[in-house]
Amino acid sequence: MSQLAIEGGNPVFTQPAPLPAWPPIYQQTGEKLLQIYNSHRWSFYGSEELAFNEEFAAYTGAAYCSMMANGTVTLELALLALGVGPGDEVIVPAHTWLATGEAVVYTGATPVIVDIEPDTLCMDPEKFEQAITPKTKAVIPVHLFGSMADLDRILAIAAKHNIKVIEDCAHSHGGEWRNRHTGTWGDIGSFSFQESKLIASGEGGACITNDEILAEKLGRLSHIGYQIGSKQGQKGTPPPMGLICRNYRVTEFQAAILSGQLAHLKEDTIMRERNAEYLRKRIDALPGIKVQARGKHATRQSYYIFSVIVDIDRLKQGTTRSDIALALQAEGISRIGGGWGRPMYHQNLWSVPEDMYRIESNANAEEIVCNRLLVCQLQWLMLPEKETAMVADAFEKVMTHYYCD
Ligand SMILES: *Cc1c(COP(=O)(O)O)cnc(C)c1O
Repeated sequence: MSQLAIEGGNPVFTQPAPLPAWPPIYQQTGEKLLQIYNSHRWSFYGSEELAFNEEFAAYTGAAYCSMMANGTVTLELALLALGVGPGDEVIVPAHTWLATGEAVVYTGATPVIVDIEPDTLCMDPEKFEQAITPKTKAVIPVHLFGSMADLDRILAIAAKHNIKVIEDCAHSHGGEWRNRHTGTWGDIGSFSFQESKLIASGEGGACITNDEILAEKLGRLSHIGYQIGSKQGQKGTPPPMGLICRNYRVTEFQAAILSGQLAHLKEDTIMRERNAEYLRKRIDALPGIKVQARGKHATRQSYYIFSVIVDIDRLKQGTTRSDIALALQAEGISRIGGGWGRPMYHQNLWSVPEDMYRIESNANAEEIVCNRLLVCQLQWLMLPEKETAMVADAFEKVMTHYYCD
């Protein structure tokens, strides 16, 4: 067995891996940005915003798309468009970015937290059903990292109980469930275009839907009441009384950046999926470790993060996930770590008082997210073949060392 780099052996990567910079930049977009700058038209249902709405709707197969300031307010407005408010409950998974839960709090409703599946790390449909009460108005499954929530079961349960479904697709640009893009299965799909995401404009987000009435509401809600496509100062029809609207608009610059990236999303998704599946094959063959399972009926899996679950019970006594992370880092895999490290309601930034949310189930999330999960940034799925094989070699070297028969 070759000596681990952390113990003084030679690392698998003797040179740093050639990770691409993220987000990507394209010269054509740079020129476009300058044109927009020179045009003096920077916002307010401009041509770039309207064009991106159409492009993203076409890409996902949704009838409508509405861009917004970020992927947190998309969740908030999706909830408002569906009529969620004070007194209502919204079911969310225990393991997600805190925005999923906080958006519910913004509306005055109560987030109800349920456990995740141990393999996909996404909402457990059974736990979802168990948490339903007469107050449950909506559910937000999150298609997390490199997997998807079980849409078949979640949609069936939601339909049975008359519950609205918002898919949090902040990690799922390009992902397809049964050959149809995520976000088009529920009532509304919510996307983030924050700097780290799969298409990224610094800040940004979008809601997609097939429902014309919801689309109209989402447009108004995010544009301080203006009708979709209106020009500044144009009167048009006012929003319905009681629909309190926000200014969550984006600028033309963001829309142009996203259009440029969207043109590459398909080929990039295919490349990342191919590399992830290669790594999955090699890593799943190792003892004491398992790659996060694909979505059960994912026909195209987008990978925002490559994540693995370490079976610490089968490793040398006392081994922690952080030992594995440090050993992998020493072999040259930078930026591998515990991710958020905790379920949503224990993340550092979570400031929602305990009487404003409820935890229904969380056993898997507590054990896996706190002790067993390791995550790797998406650039690690964008390496050439040779370096991708070296990533697998590093896992092989480290796990063989720490495994205890
Ligand atoms: C990034 C993210 C969001 C929203 O992100 P913004 O930073 O507000 O654009 C929502 N849900 C999940 C799961 C996310 O990772």
